[in-house]
Amino acid sequence: MGAEVTLAVVGGGIAGLAAAYRALEHLPAHRIALLEREAKLGGKIRTEQSDGFLLEAGPDSLALSNPWAAALCRDLGLQEELRFAKPEFARLYIKRDGRLHPLPWGIAASLQETLRALVKSELLSTAGLLRAACEYFLPPRREPGDESIANFFSRRFGGEFYRWLVEPLAAGIYGGNAPELSLEAALPELRKMELHYGSVLGGLLWSGVDHGAGRSAPAPRIATLKGGLERLVKALEQRLRGTVLLNSTGVTRLVRREGRYALFLTNGGSLTADAVVLATPAPAAAAMVEDLDPALADLLRTIRFAPSVVVSVAFHEERIGHGFDGYGYLCPRAEGGPVRAVTWMSNKFPDRTPAGAVLIRASMREPCSESLEARGGELVLRAVLAELRGTLGIRSEPLFWRVHYWDRGIAQYAPGHRGKTKLIRERLLHHPGLYVAGSSYDGVGIPYCIASGFRAADEACGDREPVLGRSTPPYS
Ligand SMILES: Cc1cc2nc3c(=O)[nH]c(=O)nc-3n(C[C@H](O)[C@H](O)[C@H](O)COP(=O)(O)OP(=O)(O)OC[C@H]3O[C@@H](n4cnc5c(N)ncnc54)[C@H](O)[C@@H]3O)c2cc1C
Repeated sequence: MGAEVTLAVVGGGIAGLAAAYRALEHLPAHRIALLEREAKLGGKIRTEQSDGFLLEAGPDSLALSNPWAAALCRDLGLQEELRFAKPEFARLYIKRDGRLHPLPWGIAASLQETLRALVKSELLSTAGLLRAACEYFLPPRREPGDESIANFFSRRFGGEFYRWLVEPLAAGIYGGNAPELSLEAALPELRKMELHYGSVLGGLLWSGVDHGAGRSAPAPRIATLKGGLERLVKALEQRLRGTVLLNSTGVTRLVRREGRYALFLTNGGSLTADAVVLATPAPAAAAMVEDLDPALADLLRTIRFAPSVVVSVAFHEERIGHGFDGYGYLCPRAEGGPVRAVTWMSNKFPDRTPAGAVLIRASMREPCSESLEARGGELVLRAVLAELRGTLGIRSEPLFWRVHYWDRGIAQYAPGHRGKTKLIRERLLHHPGLYVAGSSYDGVGIPYCIASGFRAADEACGDREPVLGRSTPPYS
């Protein structure tokens, strides 16, 4: 049998890195191993420098409204390196019938202002707006149980509101097929409002979420790091010098032996650990625990991931002939076309483009992603150029372009997801010292993955006391 460690963290994405970092704080004198299948740590977080451009292959921003990302950046001394999205461009457009309709970025100051902006945007027809306003008077659904967000918004606010507003916003976060998303997992507070206040609009009015007319809403706290999000990975890697970092080392199988776990590795070796955090996507964790607990493996395997395709394309500024005054725009599924979202990166984070150039990032829609990948990057680029020509009138040849593919892009929380994660955690109780973390369970955003890594490490180290500062925010 190979090396022995106290804790093995499997998967070197942000969740695994956060788990190893937190465990090292709990157990500085113990041996902790981080095993990553790929040569590089970071998982979906990957920044590339090319021809003077700074590109993100996966995520491009951090929502600092979630306390975990902010706490980790502070702890790693990265505060000075945070770069906030430019507030003067805090505007998002939604495309309908080829036209872009402006909406404020994030929650406007009050429900009144949000509704005013929605009316002004002309995104929805008068009938669609009136139907949405009727939500206030509709009786709540009292039967328990989860449902898809498509079902929830269509029944409460009407199909038009769902198709042209909610679907593109949800797809912008989760990718994949937003109609299949679980309400309970993606937007649990809305179901609570329906049950508690009788309607979502009532909940927004009476719960204190509404900031009140004339009062300013919290500024959107969207940030990246100087040098890109991979800076966070590098900073964590540096702090993990005291651990056994095993890159290019995948785990194939996990078995229980004499009260400990034996991990079998892709390099033919093995490792013994008292406790294990599986911080890989759930289907990869399923393959590892197949022999240990087939029922657990079956549950893990049902958590699906949608493929993602991200296209970064740059132009000479003067050849485009015009600017753009927002962060970007979303293309609803109902509008058709292979592009789901377009981000004007040079507006959002201007310091990642050389002078005189404009950088745009496009995300492709799921069913198109697979077929487009099969047909090569040129075809994906042509689809994006056609979208930019049709909607923004950009006819210039690109100065530069890159396509990044993710087979397992973003986790898709289907209705019943919360129940499934509860069952997974119950099954884990049969395996003392075995934990899971990562985007498959309690949130797909980076801050949630950080929280899940910390939570797994706290549980594995048998210590729920706060480590980062005096007060620890709740994990989710
Ligand atoms: C295109 C795209 C855009 C996104 N945009 C944003 C955004 O702007 N903001 C945001 O907050 N979130 C965003 N997300 C979501 C976020 O990036 C991910 O949910 C998060 O990074 C996942 O982290 P993780 O550690 O759970 O998993 P991963 O990053 O997937 O890491 C898991 C790691 O496990 C490794 N692994 C797998 N199997 C094994 C094995 N058998 N043995 C050892 N190692 C293994 C993998 O190689 C990988 O490195 C985006 C995601 C994508 C794909």
